[in-house]
Amino acid sequence: MTLAHGQTYLAIPGPSVMPEAVLREMHRGAPNIYEGELIDLTYGLLPDLKMVAGTAHDVAIYIGNGHAAWEASLANVLAPDDKVLVPVAGSFGLGWGDVAQCRGIETDVIDFGRRAPIDPARVAEALAADTDHKIKAVLAVHVDTSTSAKSDIPAIRAAIDSVGHPALLMVDCIASLGCDRFEMDAWGADVMVAASQKGLMVPPGAAFVFFNDKAQAARAGLDRVSKYWDWQPRANPELYYQLFCGTAPTHHLYGLRVALDMIKDEGLEAVWARHEVLAKAIWAAGEAWGRGGPFELNIADAAARSHAVTSLRIGKEHGTRLRRWCQDQAGLTLGIGLGMSTEDDPKGDGFFRFGHMGHVNAQMILGMLATVQTGLRVLDIPHGAGALEAAADVIGQA
Ligand SMILES: *Cc1c(COP(=O)(O)O)cnc(C)c1O
Repeated sequence: MTLAHGQTYLAIPGPSVMPEAVLREMHRGAPNIYEGELIDLTYGLLPDLKMVAGTAHDVAIYIGNGHAAWEASLANVLAPDDKVLVPVAGSFGLGWGDVAQCRGIETDVIDFGRRAPIDPARVAEALAADTDHKIKAVLAVHVDTSTSAKSDIPAIRAAIDSVGHPALLMVDCIASLGCDRFEMDAWGADVMVAASQKGLMVPPGAAFVFFNDKAQAARAGLDRVSKYWDWQPRANPELYYQLFCGTAPTHHLYGLRVALDMIKDEGLEAVWARHEVLAKAIWAAGEAWGRGGPFELNIADAAARSHAVTSLRIGKEHGTRLRRWCQDQAGLTLGIGLGMSTEDDPKGDGFFRFGHMGHVNAQMILGMLATVQTGLRVLDIPHGAGALEAAADVIGQA
């Protein structure tokens, strides 16, 4: 038999669980896009988006996913033959660099592998060697969703400044915004990209590019920017339709209004603290399982672990089997091991990920961990004891 019927939990790192209140707000006919309520609603979103990003500067909204935000960010500050430095801590760093390359931008990639965050010292070294300042920007992913490595953005800013390099700091917060602490202005990020379907709890389809005056100056220095990606009219529209270069993502805007209200009601500090405690409960369970079997948290250094997603290693004979059991028998869908294939494990079967971003609370995380514990037992996968007790202790002490 299966015990999967009932309320399921899609515990993949995006799209994340959407609150009923967000979905209810989206359940409506299309509004007039030329005048009335939608326009006021959109303008009201901008200050709240900036609050979540920690910036007093500008934001442009696009209909698109995270890849669109990548494309948009690059289109506004870089021209073909410009050069960027891409320090990489997983698949998403490589992905952003790849998009840059396809735009004719030269990329210097420093790959830190699959088990470590970006090392700011290596960034400083690379920039120091760039004496004629050919490098125009550093592309850094805050939380790389494949490895679950969290990089130290203020330290990367300090590395750039320590060698007096003028490169822009561009940060991908698609997985981390609204989950892990991020403060765009205080941390010195010049451009930040995000999307709707992770910590912001809205379906995929809205993308955000935040940018400061230094980035705007780079934009002004370009000969041309493609009409669709140009952030200028979107951030400072004279007419409402310029904001989206066409039809607005109407329903996403309604959903986002409710999601941002939920973040404001809880308080951004409290949202970050909730993610931190839930992540630590997951780590405690993972460490306990690992004390008697092949189970291992992908990132050993707790300071370099995301609070939104956790990547795990479990051995190639076990990972996919465990995921299938959780989904088919218990209604829990875990994330696949993304970008983790090796010669020995071409499909990345030895990995899986917990998504714990956005609309998640203690009972969901405890249920997820207990389900995995059950799967480990049923499937006879060797594992250490005491994982649920360890998680309960973290949550009990919060
Ligand atoms: C999800 C994600 C992306 C890609 O977003 P899409 O909406 O799938 O295009 C990029 N970067 C990070 C860090 C992500 O987590």
